[in-house]
Amino acid sequence: MMMHGKKGLIMGMANKFSIAFGISEALKNQGAELVFTAQNEYFCEKISDMAKEFGNHDVFLCDVSKDGEIEAAFDKISSTVGSIDFIVHSIAFSDKNELTGKYYNTTRSNFLNAMNISCYSFTEVCKFAPKLMPNGGSIVTMSYYGSEKVVPNYNVMALAKSALETSVRYLASDLGECGIRVNAISAGAVKTLASSGVGEFSKILAYDRNRSPLRRNVTREDIGGACAFLVSDFASGITGEIMHVDCGCSTIGVKFEDVK
Ligand code: NAD
Repeated sequence: MMMHGKKGLIMGMANKFSIAFGISEALKNQGAELVFTAQNEYFCEKISDMAKEFGNHDVFLCDVSKDGEIEAAFDKISSTVGSIDFIVHSIAFSDKNELTGKYYNTTRSNFLNAMNISCYSFTEVCKFAPKLMPNGGSIVTMSYYGSEKVVPNYNVMALAKSALETSVRYLASDLGECGIRVNAISAGAVKTLASSGVGEFSKILAYDRNRSPLRRNVTREDIGGACAFLVSDFASGITGEIMHVDCGCSTIGVKFEDVK
C-alpha cells in the first residue's frame, strides 16, 4: 500500500483499454484516492461509471485544447477535494488520417493541434499544478519511443513526443523549487483507442513482441506499476527522467534474425 494516504488526479482515461485505466488500477491497489478529468460530456459519462469502481464519483470536465479549461478544472478540484499529491497526464491527439504515409504530408493545422493537445497541455498542467499541490508531489506524462527513432506512420505524434520529453526536463527544473517532480514514461506499444489510429499498428505490436528481450508486449499493468512507483515516495529523488517501460524494446539495436 505504498500510496496509502495519497490523493491524485488522472487525466486521459477514455475506457478500460486506456493506459490511464491500468495506471488507475495500480494506484488504487496501492491505496491511492483518485479523481479524474474527462475531455467532454461523452467521456465524462463513461468515466463516471469507471470512477465508481475506483471508489470515487468525482469527474471534472477538461478539454485541454481550450484556453482556461485546465485552470478552471484545477480550481474546481481544489475546492472539491482539497490538495493532491500527484497528477498523471495521459493525453494525446492527432488526426488519424495523418498517422499514415509520409510525415511531410502533415498539415499545419494538425501539426499545431497535435502539439497543442499532446505537448502544450502538459506545460499548462505543470503551470497550474503548484496551486493544487502546495505540499509538493509528482507529475507523470506518457511518451513513446517514436520520439527517439523513426517508427513508421507515427509521424507528427513523434514530434509532439520529442517536444513533450524536452518539456519534462524544463518543467522538472521549473517545479523543483516547489518540491514537485516531473517525469515521463516512454511506454511500449499497447492497443488502445488512440493507438489504433496509427497506421499498421498491429505490425508495431508484432515487431516489438519479436524484438523485446522479454519476448512479449508491454501491458497496462506493467505501465501502471511503473507509474505508481514514479508518483510514490520511493521515487523521491527522481525528476526530469524519461523512463522506458517497454519490455526492453528500446534497448535492442539489431537482432541477427532481422538480417536477411
Ligand atoms: P486513449 O485513447 O485511451 O487515451 C487518450 C486520451 O486522450 C483519451 O482519454 C482522450 O479523451 C484524451 N484526449 C484527447 N484529446 C483531448 C483533449 N482535447 N482534452 C482532454 N483529453 C483529451 O489512448 P492511450 O494509448 O491510453 O493514450 C494515453 C497516452 O499514452 C497518450 O499520451 C499516448 O500517446 C501515450 N502512449 C500510448 C502508447 C500506446 O501504444 N497506446 C504508447 C506510448 C505512449
